[in-house]
Amino acid sequence: VFWARELATHSPELFEAQIKGQTISEITRRGKYIVFHLTHDFMLIHLKMTGRLYVSPAEDFSGDADRWLRVSFRLENQHELRFADTRKFGRVYLTPSLAEVIGKLGPEPLDDAFTLNDFTSRLAKRHGRIKPILLDQTLLAGVGNIYADEALWVARIDPRREVSTLNQDELSMIYHAVRQVLQQGIDNGGSTIDTYRKPDGSKGENQERFNVYDRMDQPCPECLTPITKIWLAQRGTHYCPVCQT
Ligand SMILES: [Zn+2]
Repeated sequence: VFWARELATHSPELFEAQIKGQTISEITRRGKYIVFHLTHDFMLIHLKMTGRLYVSPAEDFSGDADRWLRVSFRLENQHELRFADTRKFGRVYLTPSLAEVIGKLGPEPLDDAFTLNDFTSRLAKRHGRIKPILLDQTLLAGVGNIYADEALWVARIDPRREVSTLNQDELSMIYHAVRQVLQQGIDNGGSTIDTYRKPDGSKGENQERFNVYDRMDQPCPECLTPITKIWLAQRGTHYCPVCQT
């Protein structure tokens, strides 16, 4: 451990003692957490804004992310699993109980079991503007700032709309748009705005398909009106003032 504050649950000494010798049997994902299934525990890693996970030969520190190395795991094949994080917002959890870290997460939006009815009934209990509510991980797991902005453009909904004013057609548009933009992001290998890289080190391509995110003053792909950027619940928010009502 090179940066103790990246560890959310342990001191470096206790973390190293507890994880040493455990075997990774499976790696899954829940919301924005990457979940390592270990012999006795789960290790969860949240990349936050700039985290990167990759495997390198041990002792080789020539990779471009290695200068921001925060935690490194020596594997039995003379390689290391490395967690690098420029801005140090990422977090590593080690726990026998998954619920302790991710018990409050909402459903997975791409799950077949997650229906329009689920979405509508979960939203009916909420008050406030639609964009910040979409970012609430207890409503839905995994929707971040980029995908909330993109989904609301696809659904033609103003991010400042009060949830209580959305009619059934609009809720349906948002539900389908969220699933569409997330699936598109996966299909395009993720969005590389700054530091995000795939495990093989290459960049994602989804940032080339944005309609509104990071496109302030550029023309809306639909109506050519310049995209507006505002701050909503402390998050940069991009939308088309004509298409989104
Ligand atoms: Zn437009």
